[in-house]
Amino acid sequence: MKHRLSILLLLVSYVTLACGQIVFPSPNQVEMKKGKLTLRKNISMYTADTTAFYISLLRSEVLRDASVKWQSKASAAHICWTNDPSLPPEGYKISINPKQMTITASGERGFIYAVQTLRQWVSGPAGKLTFACADITDSPRMQWRCFLLDSGRQYQRISTIKKYIDMASLLKMNYFHWHLTEGLGWRIEIKRYPRLAQVGGSVGKAEEQQGFYTQEEIREVINYASQRNITIVPEIDMPGHAEAALSAHPELGCFGLPVEVPQQGFTQNIFCAGKDEVLTFLKNVLDEVCELFPYPYIHLGGDEAPKGNWNKCEDCQKRIAALNLKDSHDLQLWFSAQMANHLKQKGRKAIFWGDVVYQDGYPLPDNTVIQWWNYRGHKDLALRNALKHNYPVICSSNYYTYLNFPLTPWRGYAKERTFDLKDLYLDNPSNKACNEKNPLILGMSCALWTDDVVTERMIDQRLFPRIIGLAEQMWHQGEPLDFTRFYKQVLQKKEWFEQQGYKFGPALKSEVPQDYKWD
Ligand SMILES: [Zn+2]
Repeated sequence: MKHRLSILLLLVSYVTLACGQIVFPSPNQVEMKKGKLTLRKNISMYTADTTAFYISLLRSEVLRDASVKWQSKASAAHICWTNDPSLPPEGYKISINPKQMTITASGERGFIYAVQTLRQWVSGPAGKLTFACADITDSPRMQWRCFLLDSGRQYQRISTIKKYIDMASLLKMNYFHWHLTEGLGWRIEIKRYPRLAQVGGSVGKAEEQQGFYTQEEIREVINYASQRNITIVPEIDMPGHAEAALSAHPELGCFGLPVEVPQQGFTQNIFCAGKDEVLTFLKNVLDEVCELFPYPYIHLGGDEAPKGNWNKCEDCQKRIAALNLKDSHDLQLWFSAQMANHLKQKGRKAIFWGDVVYQDGYPLPDNTVIQWWNYRGHKDLALRNALKHNYPVICSSNYYTYLNFPLTPWRGYAKERTFDLKDLYLDNPSNKACNEKNPLILGMSCALWTDDVVTERMIDQRLFPRIIGLAEQMWHQGEPLDFTRFYKQVLQKKEWFEQQGYKFGPALKSEVPQDYKWD
């Protein structure tokens, strides 16, 4: 009988869960309790800090701007915020009974995530907000949970950048990798070299490929992101993907000649590693980048840098001979080491794409972090080599974390460059690498590259709902839900995400309508 009763209770709690209390990414522990807390007008709140950003986020996104009065006695408040230094830095607890809700964390980061959970937990209209009673205990699985947006190939408005920072925070990601330079556009204002953005910001032909971000706009984004527990990782790609910069400053190339900007892919035109002036120029750029971004990590790119020009350039060849380097690949390692050392002097770490560790050679300094991406081309070579050299690694395999790959073929994406929610949920190489629990593996990143002219209005349908699956892998520590149940919950939550302004595309290949438009 007792046994039957517990099965019954389990069923009841499952039904309750299925009917409304779905939170993505799934919290670690949710213990449903009887009853609900209903908050009408005049909500009372107890907190040590009435001006904190998480309080205003709760008021706008959860309490729907209901009036709040501050209560000086914790036990008498509807909503009570308490500190517990023993909780992990990004962890939180929410305890809801029919009279009161208590939110506990060790600091701001945990409180922000508690609010992000409550946004999904609340139901009912303004004036009659209801919260199902429960005890929720939560903290992240991975320390690095990141979303990359490519603002190089396409320019997005500041409001759009903020929209995806909001999304990352909602999905409990803590890094925003901002890809700011590309062959098709240099998007960051550098005061010392204004031509970089003025000329390099408008080398693309399409309408949404024009523009750059002023330092003032970037400061605004930095502030917006830090309120939401998002650290920005700016990427200044070098030596390759540099055609926009070389259009503004042809003297930075090997032959000092004007370059042609490819509307697709990349060319042989990369920064020259043989000329001292080029290294000085790039270090000056990094000085401004470091001054602007008060964060530990700067991404220096390092991917897809063909060596055709370096092999013919007198200066590059002289450098190889003078330093007794093996070849032009070794020259890239030396060049990368100079830049990473420059960052090291400033107390920063340098992230490079995995291309730099395909072959051994000139040693990179110990502030190097490797981002593994090219699974399609080299499987886990970069991951293994990085670990061999004791570099920390961020996993972002192009299978299955590159969300610009659509579910069905489109423009430059053939069938082998497509994947769906089920593929990534069951078979993501980056998630599998994180399962190894190697302390050098920092976590996972997912990306929205804007190759093939992916304009602002096309982003949502590529991200959603697949990014929910990736966020689940980054955050949820418990046993993963089986796919069928996970997918069912995603569908139940679709309307909610759409109300927040994120439009869903298809989730499964088999469900993509024949005439579906990716553009
Ligand atoms: Zn050169």
